[in-house]
Amino acid sequence: MIQITMPLNFLGTVYREIRQSLVDMGQMFDLLEQPAEVSDKPGARDLEVSRGVVELDAIRFGYEPDRPILKGVSLRVGAGESVALVGPSGSGKSTIGRLLFRFYDVQGGAIRIDGQDIRDVTQDSLHAAIGVVPQDTVLFNDTIRYNIAYGREEATQEEIEEAARAAQIHEFVRSLPEGYDTQVGERGLKLSGGEKQRVGIARTLLKDPPVLLLDEATSALDTETEQGIQEALARAAEGRSVLTIAHRLSTVADADRIVVLEAGEVVEEGSHADLLARGGRYAGLWARQAAEREDAA
Ligand code: ADP
Ligand code: MG
Repeated sequence: MIQITMPLNFLGTVYREIRQSLVDMGQMFDLLEQPAEVSDKPGARDLEVSRGVVELDAIRFGYEPDRPILKGVSLRVGAGESVALVGPSGSGKSTIGRLLFRFYDVQGGAIRIDGQDIRDVTQDSLHAAIGVVPQDTVLFNDTIRYNIAYGREEATQEEIEEAARAAQIHEFVRSLPEGYDTQVGERGLKLSGGEKQRVGIARTLLKDPPVLLLDEATSALDTETEQGIQEALARAAEGRSVLTIAHRLSTVADADRIVVLEAGEVVEEGSHADLLARGGRYAGLWARQAAEREDAA
């Protein structure tokens, strides 16, 4: 259903360590800058999630005053629903992810989770409710156990193993002489891209967030790894509300609903079959990518 991949990691070790505290939320959004303008309202309450319904209600946003990026986007992810956001590069897909995480505030409209405006709740509770599977999981120079449990230090070994199993990394970890105590990262065992990705998925599963936000990268892992990752992500998506920011249409055909964004506006919405039958923007994108896949094959 979903697929994520690894961009080249060109960041140096020092920078990586400075950045570590931002990893969970920032990483997937190519968010190397951390805007500081957003803070909790005085007396902000914690977000209370019951069903995990995400609503973007006519949101408007621009990074600069005279250059609107999102021009009144409405989009709903129902409880347990899987919605894919597609559209050309620069159409505003990743910006929507950043706004959902409240790295910036919308300039018009509202974003609500289970009816609560995200501007009214604490950022800690908002971030706890939204799981992000990063494109490029950064590992801490510590054990595999620590890396999976990061963010939920009180997790039991049993819970850690259960998450690792679901992320399809448990067998690999068990095969290592030191198992979950194996040191990884810059000064330990180097994991492959696919292995790091699975650690990231296990970390997210352990956090057990009601809402998942996935932002695909454009480059590809090898096919075998990719399929395993997709299976792990499909398991992670079960029972959660999922918003996938997708670059390749081949991975979104199974989504409950597909939303097509163009120049900051929703231009089409429906299931894969609906949208193909409509013969509009999505059908055009699909035909183009299908031709590219054939060329490649
Ligand atoms: P997509 O993910 O669909 O490719 P983005 O949401 O990343 O699109 O970007 C939408 C537009 O916003 C692009 O024109 C991009 O250049 C611009 N943009 C993204 N981030 C910033 C930023 N931090 N400051 C100014 N403009 C930005
Ligand atoms: Mg993007």
